Amino acid sequence: MDIAQSLPAGTPFGGELERRPRLLVVDDQPVNVQLLYRVFAADHQVFAATEGNKALEIARQQQPDLILLDVVMPELDGFEVCQRLKADQLTRDIPVIFLTANADPESEAHGLDVGAVDFIGKPFNTKVVRARVKTHVTLKRQGDLLRRWVFLDGLTGIANRRHFDERLAVEWARIQRSGAPLSVLLIDVDHFKRFNDSHGHQSGDDCLRRVAAALASGLQRPTDLVARYGGEEFVCLLPDTDGYGAQHMAEQLRQRVHQETQPGVSGAPWPAVTVSIGVGSARLDLMHSADDLLREADLNLYRAKKAGRNAVRAGAAALSA
Ligand SMILES: [Mg+2]
Repeated sequence: MDIAQSLPAGTPFGGELERRPRLLVVDDQPVNVQLLYRVFAADHQVFAATEGNKALEIARQQQPDLILLDVVMPELDGFEVCQRLKADQLTRDIPVIFLTANADPESEAHGLDVGAVDFIGKPFNTKVVRARVKTHVTLKRQGDLLRRWVFLDGLTGIANRRHFDERLAVEWARIQRSGAPLSVLLIDVDHFKRFNDSHGHQSGDDCLRRVAAALASGLQRPTDLVARYGGEEFVCLLPDTDGYGAQHMAEQLRQRVHQETQPGVSGAPWPAVTVSIGVGSARLDLMHSADDLLREADLNLYRAKKAGRNAVRAGAAALSA
């Protein structure tokens, strides 16, 4: 079975194999970056960094399929960058190939110890670099598909609750260190029981798939996640997003679901559905765990339902409500 083909279009996992591989090139010498850019730009999406901290930031945000990493750089050297990539759950599965002029066995062994998949000496042969990149990108993508299959919701093709729970734990730990904002959205399809009673369970399943696809296509950053939380409930994880940003996103998603489930758009024989959305935003001074964050979102979802459904509710008042 072709896994990619069996996924609905518009979900984060559909179309995964068709897109161009994403490559991050890291070297403190701009001339080397330019050289590698020329080698790969025609058939890859190439990101570049000339120092380690920038490389870590790009890796987190852009989720490249592979990183070509210079060893000798001022400040953070390549070994240190690689160790940090491997310590972060968001970047640890990205293969790293070291590029270095000092390709002695000792440093090569060290490079493999810190988690690199390969080592290429400088000056490098273009064909060799291309061949090795191709091999490791292919392996990476096969691994991604298998990993994601474990974390997929069978009905809708988006992430399942297990995946969400794991990502939430990681993000919660991260904001303890960084103090960065973090928000979640709890999203519930309005009057879904009534929908099932009127149109049947097959249509109900179809409806959930369309809602999932609408939510997935509405997310903007690779680090945003939408998952099926259970039944007709969905959840979004929005790293680096404060309460205002999350409320704005929730409002966009609310409108998008209603638009994309219109019979004229969806082609389905049943009427459009709406969702109610509750926003939760991390406040480290008041919240003790990620459960508190979900509780705030749940209370706000309850307020949205009480307000007549097809609505977004946000705000800190919820925890004491
Ligand atoms: Mg260098």
